[in-house]
Amino acid sequence: MTDKTEVDQLLKQLFPICRSITGDGVRCTLRVLRGLAYFRTYEVPSGTNCFGWTVPDEWNVRDAYIADMNGKRLVDFGENNLHLVSYSEPFEGDLDFSKLLVHLFSLPDQPDAIPYRSSYYQRGWGFCVTSRQWKELANWNATYHVKVDTTLKPGHLTYGEALLGNKGREYLITTYCCHPSMGNDNLSGMVLWALLLKEMQGRNLKNRYRFVIAPETIGSLAYISLHEEEVEQLAGGFVITCVAGPGKIGYKVSWKGDSVIDRVVVRTFRELDLDYKLYRFDVNGSDERQYSSPGLRIPMGTICKDKYYEYPEYHTSLDNLDFISAGSLLQTLDAYLAVIDNLERDEIYIPLHLVGEPKLDTLLGYPVLGGGLLPGKAAMLDAARWVLFYSDGNTSLLDIAERTGLPMSSLVQAAETLVEKRLITQKEKK
Ligand code: ZN
Repeated sequence: MTDKTEVDQLLKQLFPICRSITGDGVRCTLRVLRGLAYFRTYEVPSGTNCFGWTVPDEWNVRDAYIADMNGKRLVDFGENNLHLVSYSEPFEGDLDFSKLLVHLFSLPDQPDAIPYRSSYYQRGWGFCVTSRQWKELANWNATYHVKVDTTLKPGHLTYGEALLGNKGREYLITTYCCHPSMGNDNLSGMVLWALLLKEMQGRNLKNRYRFVIAPETIGSLAYISLHEEEVEQLAGGFVITCVAGPGKIGYKVSWKGDSVIDRVVVRTFRELDLDYKLYRFDVNGSDERQYSSPGLRIPMGTICKDKYYEYPEYHTSLDNLDFISAGSLLQTLDAYLAVIDNLERDEIYIPLHLVGEPKLDTLLGYPVLGGGLLPGKAAMLDAARWVLFYSDGNTSLLDIAERTGLPMSSLVQAAETLVEKRLITQKEKK
């Protein structure tokens, strides 16, 4: 099991890397994560058409700054990669403040925050600064030297994939890897994704799991366009994002609201007695926008800890390593693992004894002396009787858990005993 020190180290190692929807930052990040859990990486060429979108040219940064005429750097990409608008095209020149102004972005309400901005599909360049820096630059008589030393040319978009299990239903577990130095959105998501993959890799699974790590939006679209048939078969999935903030655990339900993944999450959170925040589905969000679109309609949920949009540090330099913690990340990882455990337990059983109650005293050691055993006294026998009662070839263990309030772990244990006693048999999943 992973400990806080290991997570802390990973967060610190990955935080400074400049990521975007393409480029060496993504490759380097995936290389580090592959040291944790095994997955393969793939490269999609610039210019590839994905449902009307195009994989853009590859972007890499060597250096970028705004300096005064003495060469003193006033805004420096080397200090914080959020200073440069993602996908800024190369530029070098001397500019008056009046000309520089349109290339500057700041947040007047948050004087110490550098905003996160990108311009993937409109060529240009820009710098994001704190409003304090903006005020310092705001001298109408001053001239500045600007250098954006980037490359923007045909290359590739990089994504990673791992497939686990070989039977049952298939679920998608995806995250994105395109954000530069911000902690909760979405360094935390990438690290949790890799830790979850590592935890599940050695297990004997009853379902299949498709782990995908790709740049948000264009990466998912590229992935879907290359795997459309497989994606259409998915029973549901999770977009892992914003998982290590200081607030409450939350769950954003899928577009369907009552799909198996939604029900399993709610059931699991109740079993864990978690005080959580439930978010209704919203078209604003992450890659559920692609996976749940009309032609696919995959139910995609998100378990989070400080959901995007909900915290003031979101998409700024204040969403940093001080905002997130390894402890919070591990709490969300535990929640995801508990949900996966219950997804694994969700089976349907067919009755082998059809009419009347089977004689349980001989079969399960039910007390021969009638009348003395009140319901609820013997939890195991109780669970067995509920499973036996409801198992009719259509009712799943999740249905039974919802109807009885019994934990799925007890129901599955009871079901295994009943299978051994040849009272029920497991139905094959479709
Ligand atoms: Zn974001």
